Amino acid sequence: MPQPDRPDEFSLIAKVFAPLSAEAPGAFGLTDDAALFAPGEGMEIVLTVDAIVEGVHFLSSDPADSVAQKLLRVNLSDLAAKGATPRGYLLVTSWRADTTLAWIEGFADGLRRDQKTFGIALWGGDTVSTPGPLNFSLTAIGEVPRGKMLRRSGARIGDDLYVSGTIGDGALGLAAAEGRLVGALEDVRSLIDRYRCPQPRTALGSRLVGLASAALDVSDGLMADLGHLCETSGVGARIEASLVPLSPAASRAVDANSSWFGTALTGGDDYELLFAASPANAARIAAVATESGVAVTRIGTVVSREEGVHAVDSQGSPLAFGQLGFKHF
Ligand SMILES: [Mg+2]
Repeated sequence: MPQPDRPDEFSLIAKVFAPLSAEAPGAFGLTDDAALFAPGEGMEIVLTVDAIVEGVHFLSSDPADSVAQKLLRVNLSDLAAKGATPRGYLLVTSWRADTTLAWIEGFADGLRRDQKTFGIALWGGDTVSTPGPLNFSLTAIGEVPRGKMLRRSGARIGDDLYVSGTIGDGALGLAAAEGRLVGALEDVRSLIDRYRCPQPRTALGSRLVGLASAALDVSDGLMADLGHLCETSGVGARIEASLVPLSPAASRAVDANSSWFGTALTGGDDYELLFAASPANAARIAAVATESGVAVTRIGTVVSREEGVHAVDSQGSPLAFGQLGFKHF
């Protein structure tokens, strides 16, 4: 049923979305056909896009602001993984006739808060109606020194492998949200929060330029994404499972039921950075971790392609996982 309080699309853009462009002069208050952006001297533009669909990537019952924040943050995570500093974004929103103005305003409020956190603004986009599920597409734009974008392809045998933050909270948070993981209320809440609201490592990512030999962000699961990095680089990897950093809440879940450890290493939605770097850069990596306020942990070593991509326990025995991360259809 159409919502009588909802303005038409032009008014929606003017009222709800144009204020999100206020900090970007090149967006012209969303009144023109296109936006302008001049990258800094010696910089290249880095682009990434993600789309999400109601019922597939988020639930109808999810809070509107957290849906918007997750959409923005997964894109910022990709920029961080490429060493780029985020500058702005383009947004396509598709609203159903029964979407309330309050929901749309909640969505915009999530964006407004994150724009402040990450120092970016809305540059443009489109707003359409849909008879189907809500769906959104966001293109994030950042910049990186010319020729310096971190690629998946540069890992070399003998490099150290590192992750930022903690691993597994996304997958355990989803399990908690679905009622499959039970524990202390505080732990359940903190895991669900990590699942709903990832922390893109933008401050760390830009500082890894010139230090990391290859990087990506963990979205499909640590082992699966490590496989992607190794495949592109033509190498293998050995992860020392006991080194993989877990949050206090994830540690307690694993202590209560060790099968959650496999979920932590293979589940998705962590949005932490996974990168390779020469052992010669270890001290500088520790320094940029401190500067950016993000924990960085060495979890393994790049080995030859023939040795494959695997994790070992503290005795050096290989670990088997039921599935290598979340598979996309
Ligand atoms: Mg990615």
